[in-house]
Amino acid sequence: MAIDIVVFGPHPDDAELGCGGLLLKMKDLGYKTAIVHLTAGEMGTGGSSEVRLQELENAAKALNLDHIEVMDFHDCQIVDDFESRLKIATIVRQLRPKIVLAPYWGSPPGRGLGHTDHIAAGNLVSHGVNFAHLHKMPIPGEIYAVPRMFYYLLPQELVPTFIVDISAYAEQWFEALKCHKSQFYNEKTKSFDFIEAVAARAQSLGRIRGMKYAQGFYSPVPLLGDDPFVFVEREPGEAKTEKPSHERWP
Ligand SMILES: [Zn+2]
Repeated sequence: MAIDIVVFGPHPDDAELGCGGLLLKMKDLGYKTAIVHLTAGEMGTGGSSEVRLQELENAAKALNLDHIEVMDFHDCQIVDDFESRLKIATIVRQLRPKIVLAPYWGSPPGRGLGHTDHIAAGNLVSHGVNFAHLHKMPIPGEIYAVPRMFYYLLPQELVPTFIVDISAYAEQWFEALKCHKSQFYNEKTKSFDFIEAVAARAQSLGRIRGMKYAQGFYSPVPLLGDDPFVFVEREPGEAKTEKPSHERWP
């Protein structure tokens, strides 16, 4: 099964929070989309693993995903070791995505900053993706080189490499996030305004470039722009044209 864009998330809700608007937009553009959850989020203050599995399935439907997987890593115990990289590489060889997204690996550790699983998953998925193209790795499936990796769940101080206009998908995205009721509408977690905070961040990212809502992503390698005019933005609301850039920008 070939999936165009695969998001690896440490806990149910991470991929949805960091990439939900993007996934809705990509699906609408005709790409096949998937989330691979590394854990069932069983250590979360709200919800059991059974509840969270049901919630992630509901969120997958709300995001129109083509595929979901839940791996058998344990919540708060994700480690970036050889065996774990092989597991990631095996899934990469099966799904053969053109784009992989993983949590940003470099957030400062601590509460409200970089959860241990987020940091570990950022490293683990990056190395697992790399392993997928190595011939001698003891993993099944045909070798596969992922063309591009990006990172989400960026710390406030990191400027995204690029942002995606998700204004048309924001409401649908928020509805998908609400599927994770045990996390965001739970007496124990008291995170009743969390989705509002996520929306505010998307709004402030969008505002930089005159859009209502945007999601931001990071690339550790420079993106190629043989024709730098691809980086010259259209005016907000202006229809995208198929004309070559030299005709668009006299
Ligand atoms: Zn998480």
